[in-house]
Amino acid sequence: MTLHSNLNARLKIKLMNKILLTLIFNSTIFFFGSIKSFAQSKENYHFDIDLTQVENDELVVTLKPPKVKEKILIYNIPKIVPGTYSISDFGRFITEFKVRDKKGKPIEVKRLDDNRWEISNAKKAALITYKVADTWDSDKENVIFEPAGTNIEAKKNFVINTHGFFGYLDGYKDNDYELTITKPKNFYGSTSLTTTNSDAIKDLFVVDSYMDLADAPIMYNEPDTTILNMGDAEVLVSVYSPNGTLTSKYVAENINEILEAQRQYLGGELPIKKYAFIIYLTDKPSLSGMMGALEHSYSSFYFLPELAPEYITQSIKDIAAHEFFHIVTPLNIHSEEIHDFDFINPKMSEHLWLYEGVTEYSSGHVQAKYELITLDAYLEIIRGKLNSAAAYKQDLPFTEMSAKCLDEYADQYGNVYEKGALIGLCLDITFRSLSEGEYGLQNMMQDLSKKYGKNNSFKDDELFDQIAELSGYPEIKDFFSNYVSGKEPLPIKEVFEKVGIVYKEEATIKEVTMGNILKGLIIDQDSNIVISDVSQVDSFGKKMGYMEGDKLRKVNGDTITLESAVEIIGNLRRNAAAGDTLSIDVERSIEEGENEDYPKFEVITLEGVMEATERTEYHIFEPDPAMTEKQRNLLNSWLIPKNGE
Ligand SMILES: [Zn+2]
Repeated sequence: MTLHSNLNARLKIKLMNKILLTLIFNSTIFFFGSIKSFAQSKENYHFDIDLTQVENDELVVTLKPPKVKEKILIYNIPKIVPGTYSISDFGRFITEFKVRDKKGKPIEVKRLDDNRWEISNAKKAALITYKVADTWDSDKENVIFEPAGTNIEAKKNFVINTHGFFGYLDGYKDNDYELTITKPKNFYGSTSLTTTNSDAIKDLFVVDSYMDLADAPIMYNEPDTTILNMGDAEVLVSVYSPNGTLTSKYVAENINEILEAQRQYLGGELPIKKYAFIIYLTDKPSLSGMMGALEHSYSSFYFLPELAPEYITQSIKDIAAHEFFHIVTPLNIHSEEIHDFDFINPKMSEHLWLYEGVTEYSSGHVQAKYELITLDAYLEIIRGKLNSAAAYKQDLPFTEMSAKCLDEYADQYGNVYEKGALIGLCLDITFRSLSEGEYGLQNMMQDLSKKYGKNNSFKDDELFDQIAELSGYPEIKDFFSNYVSGKEPLPIKEVFEKVGIVYKEEATIKEVTMGNILKGLIIDQDSNIVISDVSQVDSFGKKMGYMEGDKLRKVNGDTITLESAVEIIGNLRRNAAAGDTLSIDVERSIEEGENEDYPKFEVITLEGVMEATERTEYHIFEPDPAMTEKQRNLLNSWLIPKNGE
């Protein structure tokens, strides 16, 4: 037996070596072989960039264009890309655009605007070259949201949002793209694309069309990656953390639970086989002033602050849940405008309530439904959305805002994450009420994906009729005409009443406070907790004499630190009664120090007798103690997973 097994093992090793050798051999042959055959095919775009050759923070892009019929032809770099809902003009970052013929003779080019170059003799064009500067450290106006932008950090990190580097010729958007990227040793390209070939210094990607290329960012750096298996889908988590604060393993462990919940929420099967979370953490302020992420069909790209895990983990979870749900819409449910996206003259769809609103609603609802957060915490999220939505135009139909979000209503776009999500919520409960709990928003999404899917789009003005028909609840058209394409405010009170939750738009609350300073607290660079705003303090706060810039040091004798603050202040809020003495030590700067060059600080004790004050609270939710059986059933259908859900 022993001998046998030994022999077997040796055989195995030999076989392994053979397989390994065959693989290496074949791939080497294939690599060169394929390059040669690609060079002979004329229908494809052949792009090359070399990440080891950064000069003045720029990279050179080399393109062997496909063979074309037209004499005069325009080369385009996107003005806008899907998912951003704002104009970026990526062509602004391109210089020294040159076209040559087979013999290397220049062909005349006219730059038409930021994003378009007219080639005078495109039939003869054999080589196009240009330089690309990155968007992340530019001094240009109209700063691009980082997750859509490009980063060139020699020897450290490259963010190849492909639409920032590569373009297309008019009429040739559906040709294949071959991308050869030369990379520094030890660098890895994190992306949802599969390399056709790859070795230590080069990656080759082949992509079906410009739409697919622009849909797949690639981040190059020394890799920190972890693979998660969700059902039969493989999920790559790639993290670039310049100071090693967060690892891909940690992020993967933390998003695993929520992704698993999302898989169940979507019916147990994901509409993707491969997905990539590409996460860049920054230790510098963001140029755009924003942090966040951008979704793609099979990946999402994150630009987030490099903070200690306890401060950033929940944000990563929330954002990852949102971006991941985009695999449902717009990937599998979208209108013509998105299906055949026009990168130069985009038309916006009327249905941002669907793409962004339903996505945002689902990413919160899934957490409540699978008990990753409590119902109270979830209602608090909804409350936040009601408060934020109040800052936007109230009588603007959501469909109209969507269609004009690039120009006229650009300042209203943010409401897609607030009112958009609330539309999703009201629609979900309305469907459940019509169907006695049998049919909800997820059923609607599944019906729409079955009907349309990745390759078929709907016409904007058909969607509401289609939903009425597919769902079997024609009454739902009233919901859309009143609240989505109409001007009526969302029926929040009525909707929550159906699930036995009492909603009050506002109520007067009597409570003992620290003086209403909590909303004005911020954490400064040195981890001090600072009162940054005293405009909202109540009458007790005025008596205490808080001043802007006061750093909290002690509360009733307990030392305040970042770690202890939540517990100490939380205890006080729960237990304080009118008549108690509150004593707070603050460190305050004194304007007239002995030496004017150095600000002086002193610790002073503020003291007062606490009293009950009244204030108005907005958007209050309370479960109805007299909840009926019917309401209870509907609440359960909304919040408790059924078998197979
Ligand atoms: Zn989104």
